[in-house]
Amino acid sequence: MQLEVGRTCDRGQDGFFSYLIEAHKSYQYLINEHRRRSAGVMNLLKRTVTFFIGGAVLSAPQSVSGQDADYEAQVAALVALPSVVRALELVEERDARTMADLLELTEIPAPPFNEDQRGERFLEMLLDLGVDSAWTDTEGNVIALRRGTGSDEVVAVAGHLDTVFPEGTDVTVRQRGDTLFAPGIGDDTRGLTAVLALLRVLNEAELQTTADLLFIGTVGEEGIGDLRGMKHLFREGGPKIDTFISIDGTGHTGITHQGLGSHRYRVTVRGPGGHSWGAFGLPNPAHALGRAIDYFDLAADAITQFGPRTSYNVGRIGGGTSVNSIPFEAWMEVDMRSESPENLRAIDEVFQRSVRRAVEESNTQRRDGAELSLEMELIGDRPSGEISESEPFVQQAIAVSRHLGIEPSLGRGSTDSNIPISQGIPAITIGGGGQGSGAHSPGEWFINRDGALGIQRALLILLAQAGTGVTS
Ligand SMILES: [Zn+2]
Repeated sequence: MQLEVGRTCDRGQDGFFSYLIEAHKSYQYLINEHRRRSAGVMNLLKRTVTFFIGGAVLSAPQSVSGQDADYEAQVAALVALPSVVRALELVEERDARTMADLLELTEIPAPPFNEDQRGERFLEMLLDLGVDSAWTDTEGNVIALRRGTGSDEVVAVAGHLDTVFPEGTDVTVRQRGDTLFAPGIGDDTRGLTAVLALLRVLNEAELQTTADLLFIGTVGEEGIGDLRGMKHLFREGGPKIDTFISIDGTGHTGITHQGLGSHRYRVTVRGPGGHSWGAFGLPNPAHALGRAIDYFDLAADAITQFGPRTSYNVGRIGGGTSVNSIPFEAWMEVDMRSESPENLRAIDEVFQRSVRRAVEESNTQRRDGAELSLEMELIGDRPSGEISESEPFVQQAIAVSRHLGIEPSLGRGSTDSNIPISQGIPAITIGGGGQGSGAHSPGEWFINRDGALGIQRALLILLAQAGTGVTS
């Protein structure tokens, strides 16, 4: 798409008045843009409302368009196999075991960058259930291989080991009625236990798949983890994975097949610092930061008025020591997100130009002392992309859901699947069953309502993709 970033960014460097003139032009530009692109604004208003579910931002349900009857037939053939029938029964019969796993794993803390303890136990559990091999990779991901009967395809199913909660958080599970309260119980300990449940029923039903299966617990899905586990897993020269299923959080209707990309920065401006009266004239990092935010906001506002949904946010600002001191440092943390990789790149560029220009101008403006220095640290980089709704993998997941009487809701999210999706590898994120809310808060809760149904759905989606290794 066309991005008219130059219109609002190329401001003159000759001081305050040209700034005002430019700001006025930007304002006029915005007004004109509003008028000219009223259709775009209408689209903006019609956009799906997004909301938080678990660790992911998922779009509200969209309607699912016409579906190929072949996929329904494929699912019907799958559920007619005695071993599949048995595995589906076993999901219910072993539900108490699944719940016991949920309680045990929830009570093993897994703060960001410290998932080892939970990872070790998860590895033991996989080995106890029985796999061909299992290991922890150098990043901390726990991986178990269950060999198929003969194709070189590999299907991976994963939950994430990490929670958002810091070291020292009380992770004891408390029960009130049928509700279980504990930080991280749904996001994503439920996903991990769903992964274990899948392996358990496949083994007990002696159900062979055609493709090799990988059962995975990933590290670093949340916030500052920045998908580090997935980035490692899908690195060049990493293990072969043809299809990826992320089980994240609770519920049994969602199918996230689009990744919401984001860039996050911490910007620090440093200067000599000094007395507000005595050292007046030194460059001021706080002033430079303010100018940077203004430039960025004006330009970014203009380019987010139309086209694929894109957002930006200066989330934290800090620095300085007292009201009568020129700060020696000022910093901010900024988050940008977009449905489109191009728009994410564009808004990132606008951001960097705004910050550099502001610091340069503050240095030009200074009357005394050393120049300001600028540090821009990329603290988050999640790629975006999407797997088309018409892709067989997504269609299979839709057909499986409908077979189980579930009307699926397709959407976009920021999950482990972002990485394979951005590389064009079929990947979706689904819920691990049950009901829950309050993810990322100490009041997080889980109810085992339709919990087995969610795992049965995951099982059929996995089998539809991996093949059953037997002919009906
Ligand atoms: Zn999560």
